[in-house]
Amino acid sequence: MAKHIREFDGWLGKYDWPRVACPTCGDGSLALDESKMTTLTDVAGTEMVDLHHKNLGPPEELEGTFHGHLQCDNSSCAEMVTVAGNWQFVVNDGSDPAKGQFADIYQVQYVNPPVRLMTLPASTPAKVRDGVESASRIIWASPSAAANRLRYAAEELLTHEGVAPKTSFGGFRPLSKRIEEYEATELDLANALKAISYIGNEGSHDELLSASQVLEGVTILDHVITALYDDSTAALQAKIKAINDAKGVLNVKP
Ligand SMILES: [Zn+2]
Repeated sequence: MAKHIREFDGWLGKYDWPRVACPTCGDGSLALDESKMTTLTDVAGTEMVDLHHKNLGPPEELEGTFHGHLQCDNSSCAEMVTVAGNWQFVVNDGSDPAKGQFADIYQVQYVNPPVRLMTLPASTPAKVRDGVESASRIIWASPSAAANRLRYAAEELLTHEGVAPKTSFGGFRPLSKRIEEYEATELDLANALKAISYIGNEGSHDELLSASQVLEGVTILDHVITALYDDSTAALQAKIKAINDAKGVLNVKP
C-alpha cells in the first residue's frame, strides 16, 4: 500500500498533515498550504462569527466545509490537486502554545487527481487496475462503495488467473465458489481474496465501513497483486545470473 495513505483518513491539521505521494509524479508529496484553502462556515457558525466581530460574543468552535488544492512539493512537478471535504475550527489541546488557541482541521472527502492507494506493477490486468483506480477515486467519500470496487478487482483477478466467472452452461458462479476453486492451486492467495470479498460484502450494506477499514482490504489486495504480477524479483534474479555467468558486471548489458 502507498506510504502514509492510512494517515489521510480522519481529521487532519497543518501540524499532522501526512506526506501522501503526489498522484502525478509519485515522487513528491502533497503539501498543505492553508492559504490555498477556502473554508465555508455553516449557518449557525456564520451567526456566531458575526456576533464575535461585533464584540457581542467570544470566539467559538465552528464547522462547515472546505475546498482548495494541495500542491506537490517536487519542484519539477508542482502538480495542483483539488481537494474538498469537511472542516472544523476547534480549540487546540493546549499542549503546544505555538499552535495557538484555535486550529483549522480538515476531513478529506474528495481528491482529484486521486491519490494512489498502491503502486500497480506494469503487468497488472487492465480490469484489476480499473477496480483499484475506481476505489481510489471514491474511498474518501464512500468507503463502502470503494470496498465493492476492491471486490470487483478480486473477481477480475480470478478471471485473469483462469477461474471462470460462469459455468459451462453460462450460469453465474458466486465469488465464494470461485475462490474455493482457486484454493486448490493458490491457497494463501485464495485466502487473501476471501478476506477482500468479506470486506466487499460489508461494503454492500449501508455506509458501515471507514476508509481505514477499507484500506485493510487495499493492503491485502496489494499483497496478491504483488505476488502475481510484480516481476521485479524475477528481474533481479536474472541480473544476478547474468553477473555470475559473466563473472563480473563489465560485460553485462544494463
Ligand atoms: Zn508531483
